[in-house]
Amino acid sequence: ANRQPHNLNRLLENIVPSIQANAYESKKEVLLELNPLPDVLIDKKEICRVLLNLMQNALDVTTAGGTIHVRTDHREPRHVTVSIRDNGPGIAPENIGRIGTPFFTTKADGTGLGLALSYNTINRHGGKIEFDTCAQGTTFYVHLPLA
Ligand code: ADP
Ligand code: MG
Repeated sequence: ANRQPHNLNRLLENIVPSIQANAYESKKEVLLELNPLPDVLIDKKEICRVLLNLMQNALDVTTAGGTIHVRTDHREPRHVTVSIRDNGPGIAPENIGRIGTPFFTTKADGTGLGLALSYNTINRHGGKIEFDTCAQGTTFYVHLPLA
């Protein structure tokens, strides 16, 4: 692992514009709300991949005119959080237990590897991924511990 101190706000400022450009082409919007954050010790490439995966999943369930919200928070002293919220159809109750397991996908062209990889990466960083889901949408939370 190649872990260095990074600020997740700077990292999101770097990766979100390309996602936004893609989203705008399909009339979707990506809103970014950055709140002050201390640095975390991370493998930047790995964490970028996780955040890109989660944003792509959110966009996959977003229809034209829809918006995803990406925000950072430092509410608890020992963790920082990135949340990615969509207004998609939610995760079906029978699928909730399979989230994060390899090869689980509901997409015709899906691999079912994005979340499995993401859970693995965040676990190895000592953090955790959680989600809230209902018929009005889903929010994924990535919690990473402070150094
Ligand atoms: P893939 O995107 O290739 O399907 P992932 O591991 O990224 O693989 O996601 C696995 C499955 O989890 C998706 O196919 C979908 O059923 C579900 N999922 C992930 N993110 C969301 C989301 N934001 N809203 C609804 N379902 C989701
Ligand atoms: Mg995916």
